[in-house]
Amino acid sequence: MERDAENTAPVRDIILLKQGEIVLKGLNKKYFEQKLSANAARRLRRFGRFHIYTIQSTVYVEPLDAGCDMEGAFDALKSVFGIISLTRAAACGKTPEAIAQKAIEYLAPDMERARSFKVESRRSDKRFPLTSIELSRYVGGELADAYPNVKVDVHDPELTVHVEVRDLAAYVHGAPSPGAGGMPVGCNGRAVTLLSGGIDSPVSSYMIAKRGVGLIPVHFWAFPYTGVAAKEKVISLARQLTDWCGKMRLAVVPFTRYQEAIRDNCPEEYFTLLMRRGMMRIADRLARDNGCSALVTGENLGQVASQTMEAMAVTESVCTLPVLRPLIGFDKQEIVTLARKIGTFETSILPYEDCCTVFTPRHPALRPDRAKLEAAEQVLDVDALVEEAVLGVEYVKLEGDSSAE
Ligand code: ATP
Ligand code: MG
Repeated sequence: MERDAENTAPVRDIILLKQGEIVLKGLNKKYFEQKLSANAARRLRRFGRFHIYTIQSTVYVEPLDAGCDMEGAFDALKSVFGIISLTRAAACGKTPEAIAQKAIEYLAPDMERARSFKVESRRSDKRFPLTSIELSRYVGGELADAYPNVKVDVHDPELTVHVEVRDLAAYVHGAPSPGAGGMPVGCNGRAVTLLSGGIDSPVSSYMIAKRGVGLIPVHFWAFPYTGVAAKEKVISLARQLTDWCGKMRLAVVPFTRYQEAIRDNCPEEYFTLLMRRGMMRIADRLARDNGCSALVTGENLGQVASQTMEAMAVTESVCTLPVLRPLIGFDKQEIVTLARKIGTFETSILPYEDCCTVFTPRHPALRPDRAKLEAAEQVLDVDALVEEAVLGVEYVKLEGDSSAE
């Protein structure tokens, strides 16, 4: 390993992660930090060996050997929740000269592109001989000499060069990239997320994972009314979500018998709502069996007949756990924009039939009368139907690099 003359710090590119909301957590801070490091470590496994440690709210990701894929690692870390921004940075010895020299070399591509720049320094090592302002002035002067075409502009620079003098070394870097934000997955408990093959539910899953919740995706599958391709589609959506949500296990629930029981015994106008009550009952049961504290759906106010306020009241009344609906007030376009951002949109729009659409009533009840609906449901042995579905659940392991746990 190459070492700097004046200092024992390793001289190589590292990745610095700035923690987001974790910084605000007083006493629990350590717990959040450990979750974040563990999630980042899992995410990095396939890019080589890294040393990950936290000092003063910054997570340091240091490659342990020359074979580490730094590009891949950097990209992967962009989807780890709990990180507000991330930067590749070069380490150097803690002398003004070493820092200026490193900035001149390491930021050459940025300096050659920019028309103006400034230097911003931070010193957490207060024994460093220069103040932050003096250090910025010194490094700025050296950079200005090395790149005479780039002018210093302290008010509105195109490029801000960051210098951080920390305990173990000094670090030089350019502009940070935005991180995924949110909180580390796993630090806010677990929930079951109802995952159809549509556009909405992958986005609602992403949003709840972003708040630090580990997810168990559940899909209701009505074979043979919905084919193997529909199930495969949901498996690939769930797999894509592991980039954000960490390692997950998808529960595929056999839903055919429950749906057929409704079709054969209940009035057509209630088909959809009774089916949705069935889904919620089974999801609630699976959630409790798996130590989860809530259910998540992609419902969106007024989008379809089963998503009016009255319809949602009727479906959630069968649940013991809270139902989280992060998309409730979004416009479709806002959901689509997020689906594109998280990479699920293209898979979501592949043609497929959902079990919701198989027995769709011609005239669904928009403002259902709860008493009538519950009376219609009396003919079903819902406990037995739920039990049968739960016993038939097939768990599909999804490859994932990071994890909720
Ligand atoms: P999506 O685009 O996610 O399919 P949607 O707008 O089509 O949602 P619905 O089909 O009415 O809405 O379903 C509302 C929510 O119910 C979905 O977002 C999802 O959370 C859940 N859901 C619907 N169908 C299924 C299914 N087959 N398996 C699991 N969850 C489902
Ligand atoms: Mg759907």
